[in-house]
Amino acid sequence: MPIYNPPLRDMQFVMHELLKVTEEFKTMPQHAETDADTINAVLEEAGKFSAEVIFPLNISGDTEGCQLDQKTHEVTTPKGFKEAYKTYVDGGWAALSCDPEYGGQGLPLVVNQCLYEMMNSANQAWTMYPGLTHGAYASLHTHGTDEQKKTYLAKMTSGEWTGTMCLTEPHCGTDLGLMRTKAEPQSDGTYKITGNKIFISAGEHDMADNIIHLVLARLPDAPPGIKGISLFIVPKFLVKPDGSLGARNGIYCGGLEHKMGIHGNATAQIVLDSAVGTLVGQPHKGMQGMFVMMNAARLGVGNQSLGLTEVAYQNALAYAKDRLQMRSLSGKKAKDKPADPIIVHPDVRKMLLTAKAYAEGGRALAMYSSVLLEKVHNHPDEKVRKDSDEMLSLLTPIVKAFLTDNGYQAATMCQQVFGGHGYIKEWGMEQFVRDARINMIYEGTNTIQSLDLLGRKVLGDQGAALKKFGKLVGALVAEEGVNEKMAEFINPIAILGEQITKFTMEIGFKGLQNPDEVGAAAVDYLRVAGHLVFGYFWARMAQVALREIAAGSTDPFYPAKLQTARFYFAKLFPETATLMRTARAGSKVLMDTDLALA
Ligand SMILES: Cc1cc2nc3c(=O)[nH]c(=O)nc-3n(C[C@H](O)[C@H](O)[C@H](O)COP(=O)(O)OP(=O)(O)OC[C@H]3O[C@@H](n4cnc5c(N)ncnc54)[C@H](O)[C@@H]3O)c2cc1C
Repeated sequence: MPIYNPPLRDMQFVMHELLKVTEEFKTMPQHAETDADTINAVLEEAGKFSAEVIFPLNISGDTEGCQLDQKTHEVTTPKGFKEAYKTYVDGGWAALSCDPEYGGQGLPLVVNQCLYEMMNSANQAWTMYPGLTHGAYASLHTHGTDEQKKTYLAKMTSGEWTGTMCLTEPHCGTDLGLMRTKAEPQSDGTYKITGNKIFISAGEHDMADNIIHLVLARLPDAPPGIKGISLFIVPKFLVKPDGSLGARNGIYCGGLEHKMGIHGNATAQIVLDSAVGTLVGQPHKGMQGMFVMMNAARLGVGNQSLGLTEVAYQNALAYAKDRLQMRSLSGKKAKDKPADPIIVHPDVRKMLLTAKAYAEGGRALAMYSSVLLEKVHNHPDEKVRKDSDEMLSLLTPIVKAFLTDNGYQAATMCQQVFGGHGYIKEWGMEQFVRDARINMIYEGTNTIQSLDLLGRKVLGDQGAALKKFGKLVGALVAEEGVNEKMAEFINPIAILGEQITKFTMEIGFKGLQNPDEVGAAAVDYLRVAGHLVFGYFWARMAQVALREIAAGSTDPFYPAKLQTARFYFAKLFPETATLMRTARAGSKVLMDTDLALA
């Protein structure tokens, strides 16, 4: 059976020693009183909930899956899911970082993010039911009318109602401009919505009293394409003026997808048959509201893979210490045993350290991004809000795509550590691999994230946002450039920081002549940018560790951090050279291939 131990020490390291979040919070009135002890106590309880309540349901949920009753259109989730959700709601976890105005506890977003990392490690399929609700909540909180907020937000905050995002249709996934679902205005100000959505996560289930679907659809006078899409709230049960549940709405599950992983999550085909909905935001401007949800979901998907990377690593590490096969190349290590544990073999260590470096680098980036999001919402200084928003916008596709690509690599490497035992169900490793695969696909495929990063976020603003990140790197280089002990961590990012500016200009210039050049370079580009960001955080983590050791700490946590940082810079970061070279190969080798692809 797999194991999971909440990585509280590393979370606390990032939270308090690397990011010094409580100092940041002092600048935000809502959180000025939030102290480290409170955060640590919440994380400890969050870890217990994850490890003790939902982790034991991970394999059984995968084996059992969800069942649809074709007559009633109701979905039954795997045994134990509903009860675990009640424990989650009763424990107040749904409300952790929600607005106190709607009954939330108002804790900083980074605390909620850590809760979600742990829940994703424990059971990604289960975690998607409450997880989608946060995006829907954020979208309504930003774009809903007072009436809509009053009707929905308190129940979504408490977790009594969950949320979904309904974008995808059979013929339209990436290209939402092709959408066909229609919304007809009614004399009472509501809309009747008709169409078919597919692949809707948590689209139907038995865990909450109501499901609040956020649906994209077209009004009769909509201009064609993406500029003609509007956003609607379509509840499963209509809500009466007093807040109680009314009639069943015309939105139901027509089928469940049979899929590779996340079996415990209901991926629903959703039929809208004159379903009653209300408009969110302005007509034809639905993407604005949906983008709030999509951005939240992109950070959330990166966090899913962070969780899987951590749990896969923990299991592979324990196995590698236990499994005896062959002798170490440099002589027997376990002399009293018939063979050495496989952790003595260099390549097994490489696989383990890859997962560890990706988990810890990913955690630093994910938590930093959550602090940025907090500032976007809650910082009193407008300039800080704007700067944070620009930085977060740059980092969002990196969190989504880099963490999920790394997560899949890490999960397969950890599976490899188990040899054949990783391929059979018993150890749980093949489930981590299957579950990790979807994270690269949904919420905009990783190719689309790469195009978003290079095309919109970098070239779209002439590299201004990237330069802002470059300034952070530059400041660290200036601070530590003469410190010999930091040279192995600082030199790589200083060099890449300079290279990436030239590299970006080259692609931008070629892209002006031929836009396919941008498409051909984007995926490689995102990985290079991802390593610049990871390199920056790994260098900062090494800086903290070196300072603690210099101050006399004997905690093995710090030398361990340095060893992982060394591994990262020696073995993973150098792929940037190959990636820049393959990106520079340009579009011709891809596009002049009609005969090869005939
Ligand atoms: C398990 C699961 C859960 C999901 N949950 C939800 C949900 O809750 N709500 C929801 O609305 N949707 C959901 N989705 C849908 C998901 O977001 C889409 O599958 C995804 O966005 C891709 O769309 P598509 O499948 O239609 O692929 P397509 O858009 O057909 O893309 C096919 C391929 O072409 C590539 N491609 C497309 N356009 C370009 C381009 N311009 N440049 C380069 N490459 C391109 C893509 O990257 C991809 O590799 C879910 C899907 C799955 C499988």
